Amino acid sequence: MPTLFPLPDPVTIPIVGEGNTFPIHRIFCVGRNYEAHAKEMGNEVDRAAPWYFTKSPASAALSGAVVPFAKATQNYHHEVELVLAIGAVASDISVVDAPSAIFGYASGLDMTRRDLQAKSKEGRKPWCTAKDVENGAVFSPITRAVDFAPKDQRIHVSVNGDVRQDASLAEMVWSPAEVIAHLSTLYTLRPGDLIMTGTPAGVGQVQPGDKIHGGIDGLSDVVLTLT
Ligand code: MN
Repeated sequence: MPTLFPLPDPVTIPIVGEGNTFPIHRIFCVGRNYEAHAKEMGNEVDRAAPWYFTKSPASAALSGAVVPFAKATQNYHHEVELVLAIGAVASDISVVDAPSAIFGYASGLDMTRRDLQAKSKEGRKPWCTAKDVENGAVFSPITRAVDFAPKDQRIHVSVNGDVRQDASLAEMVWSPAEVIAHLSTLYTLRPGDLIMTGTPAGVGQVQPGDKIHGGIDGLSDVVLTLT
């Protein structure tokens, strides 16, 4: 049956060295997965279990995008993150088996309306509008898992050439396998799911006209320009 109206084409992510792309099913994000970032936000890491928020696939953008500055914020922040691209169905998967569910890895930007997040925290309200921002989930091309193993690679981001975040993947509190195993107790993970694994210390404000350049050694860079 014909649909009533057209929707924008969904964003699909290029795969390094291949002609096909990775369609996005859902976007999960891990909160406070680097102790130094939790501290800079005035929080402690919860070592009992990882926890999550989500972004809509409609908020996705690809590296290289030139997009309007976010609406309704005076404090828009960059967060550079390792992204896991899920390539298999995984439900209640063990930490040992979890890596088999990973299709590949990307560099990502979890763009955040920090002022709205602060208000949400004050009012004990959800973070949705702070985190689910149009063009605010930005992804580099995906490197297949056979070509990358997360360990202690450098993760960094610069704004207009000034380094703002510079850390190691070894600082993650919960490893990719631990995150997948835990998240798979809450959801049946499916191919197309993306997991943004949290950001290191050094998050900060961006302005209209800024160019944000993130990267993880061994993966493609993620670049976003705000107009
Ligand atoms: Mn984040």
